[in-house]
Amino acid sequence: MTSTAGSTTYTEIAPSSAEWAAVTRRPPRALAQRISWLLVLLTTVGIFVGFQHWNDPDAEAWDGGFQLLDVLGLASIGLVVIFSLAGWYLHQFNLGLAPLLLGIAAVAHTLDSSPEAVFWWAGTLLAVLWLLFDFTLLARQTLQVRALARSLPAGTGLAPERGARTKLLLGSAAEGLWGLGAGLLAAGLWWWTLRIFAAEEGLTAAALDQASESDLWAIPALLAAALAAVLLLRALLGVLARGLVGRYAWRLPTGPGPVELVWDEDEPSGGQINIERDTSEYRCICVAELVQMFPEDAEEIRESTDVSASNHCPIHGIDAINLLSPRDFASLAGSLWLWDELSGLPQSGGFTCSSPLVIGYCGSAFTGYPGTATTRGTVDIVDYADCALEVGRGDGEFAGPRPASAPSVGVVDKIDLRPFGIAGHAVRFKHARAWFVPGT
Ligand SMILES: [Zn+2]
Repeated sequence: MTSTAGSTTYTEIAPSSAEWAAVTRRPPRALAQRISWLLVLLTTVGIFVGFQHWNDPDAEAWDGGFQLLDVLGLASIGLVVIFSLAGWYLHQFNLGLAPLLLGIAAVAHTLDSSPEAVFWWAGTLLAVLWLLFDFTLLARQTLQVRALARSLPAGTGLAPERGARTKLLLGSAAEGLWGLGAGLLAAGLWWWTLRIFAAEEGLTAAALDQASESDLWAIPALLAAALAAVLLLRALLGVLARGLVGRYAWRLPTGPGPVELVWDEDEPSGGQINIERDTSEYRCICVAELVQMFPEDAEEIRESTDVSASNHCPIHGIDAINLLSPRDFASLAGSLWLWDELSGLPQSGGFTCSSPLVIGYCGSAFTGYPGTATTRGTVDIVDYADCALEVGRGDGEFAGPRPASAPSVGVVDKIDLRPFGIAGHAVRFKHARAWFVPGT
């Protein structure tokens, strides 16, 4: 077997805290998306009030025979009304959906020569401008990330493990596949809508008792089509950004930056050892002690990846922790067993290595995955890890570890961890594991 081709490796780079903090950020996503929603709401309410649509029940729902244009017009109104009511909750897609939905209403009203058309167009224009503004920031950020990645000294090339490769590949493909799925759904719904319309075509509002059915089906059909467009566009942006920036494994510095890592749903807690990694030392009694205490769970204990460390273990016990020199302690700061179960952890998330890696980050269009470098010169993506989470402008500082309130009695000593590149200090205790107190 030949080695993995060079093109599939991720070059390790390590930006400084200042460089990482200086990456341009977009407005927080929730805010940006809700501004889009608000534009739809204001346009819809403005037109409803301006044209006094509360008088509508007296008027016919449409004039003359029922046309496809009437389906489109009625459905587009239904769509913006539903979106105005529920769009707050759909916020993930609002930025792209808002101009599309307003645009559909604008086109329908223009074809209908309705006097409202110009106001729908005005709303569409505002939603498009807001989307463009956001896109400009994204483009600027992507170019900046590309320039930063190229300016940093290139470290080793890390080949992703098989699972990681799949995840990185699916990272871009998934949204595209969802987009295609939404497109297929839209096609199916349109087929159904047109079938129903065939029976209603040409009938007057009175003949249909004011209640056409095809426009009701056209609402989800239009929504699915718009969603497909948004998803495909997002997938395309992700692919473009990855092509533009290239493959890098970013070793993140401490402090704020444009992304935050989401690891497992369960926050790791202190006092744990990783069986595979930490118990190779023959003097470690952690597993043996647990098995002795819970003999009926022996098999389960031996099969689990993480177990509670024994307080009496010569390697992972409290005395062992308190005997460590400050330097040795700091070099082990990423190990969970140093810390009390209730203590915060240095660099929440970076518990498996001194500083976390983000694989494939290329700006907000593709934020990459949290990963770890293995000893084999490969890189693996943390199980169950989601894409790194974009941090918006003014989104608050690095969430970091929750503030610990260490016990006040039984203190052995304090170790300043800042000289070792960890923002905070450790407090060691006579009868408990250490506590981490964050702070610079
Ligand atoms: Zn042990």
